[in-house]
Amino acid sequence: MAEFLKRLRCLVGRHSPSRRSVRYEGHLKVGPCKYCGIELEKSADGRWVHRHAIGGKSASTAVEED
Ligand SMILES: [Zn+2]
Repeated sequence: MAEFLKRLRCLVGRHSPSRRSVRYEGHLKVGPCKYCGIELEKSADGRWVHRHAIGGKSASTAVEED
């Protein structure tokens, strides 16, 4: 049940990074989501977002979630 709720958070874009895997890349904190494994980065507002979603206004950037 708890696992389902965690996955549900991922589905609505509220990912949680695995703290052990968080690293710095320049000034960015990045790391994989501990539930679904996608690469995240911490945005300016403190939320963890899909890396490719940042600055990706291009319509040609398709993101597939399973
Ligand atoms: Zn996730």
